[in-house]
Amino acid sequence: MSSMQRSTAMNNHDSVEPSSSGTGANGLSAESAPVWIHDLTVAYHRKPVLWDVNLAVPEGKLIAVVGPNGAGKTTLIKAALDLVPRASGNVMIYGKSYERQRHLVGYVPQRESVDWDFPVNALDVVAMGLYRKIGWISPVSRRYREKAMESLEKVDMTPYAKRQISQLSGGQQQRVFLARALAQDARVYMMDEPFVGVDVATERAIVALLKELKDAGKTCLVVHHDLQTVPNYFDYVVLLNMRVVAHGATEDVFTEENLKKTYGGKLTLLSDAVYEFSKDPRLPSGTKETHQ
Ligand code: ADP
Repeated sequence: MSSMQRSTAMNNHDSVEPSSSGTGANGLSAESAPVWIHDLTVAYHRKPVLWDVNLAVPEGKLIAVVGPNGAGKTTLIKAALDLVPRASGNVMIYGKSYERQRHLVGYVPQRESVDWDFPVNALDVVAMGLYRKIGWISPVSRRYREKAMESLEKVDMTPYAKRQISQLSGGQQQRVFLARALAQDARVYMMDEPFVGVDVATERAIVALLKELKDAGKTCLVVHHDLQTVPNYFDYVVLLNMRVVAHGATEDVFTEENLKKTYGGKLTLLSDAVYEFSKDPRLPSGTKETHQ
């Protein structure tokens, strides 16, 4: 397909970063960006779901990836982790391929994508996340078991360490996967809808954990579908609908106009979400909007 055909295929593309010259408009170079995506196109059965995606993710931020169902959010994360083939484009993790940097990345997959009937207990799942360090052949040493237990403790799951994962609630399963990512001591975390199907206590625990990770300078890229909580939970937003519609600090980018561009006219909760945000005390008073 010619570049002209490409550019007319989607006309809501008004944010192109990083540039092909090697430094994005937000000043991030491929080397300094935790995740750097350049001209990424992914297709399933020849039907593109991501199209020329360009994105440089800043370090130390809690970043929400937001967009309608089928926008390609999960595919974006999977493409960054080499879990789906790319039709074209590059992804770099701190300037190198994922293959070379996988030790820097912790991944929390969508809960529904996991086979919870697999006969392992919570501790095994966390320890399995350490196999990269341990090696598949060696038995899990006491040191790694302790590390896995420490991570379970961080998410209040110590009492369930020996329980089969099929016998955990949705919230507990999610905590186990967070513990697994934590045990990896990553610099970049990619999480796919971690809040889906969890109870209020787990949601709070996840939010606290995200803050902790951010305070430790980690970068968290989180697929998130609940627009109402975006401004409270995240300080950076990527609006995605096959392409990056906009990305930047939440207060700059999470606007009704950008949300409309991303979702089309489909979402009635949009103005409520933006209204809630406009009341946020962190905003300077001049920028607060009145609810129409
Ligand atoms: P989102 O996470 O934003 O809901 P996805 O990345 O899951 O979007 O999916 C984007 C599009 O790709 C959807 O239309 C979905 O049906 C399609 N898709 C996702 N995974 C596959 C797959 N393995 N095979 C074929 N189509 C897929």
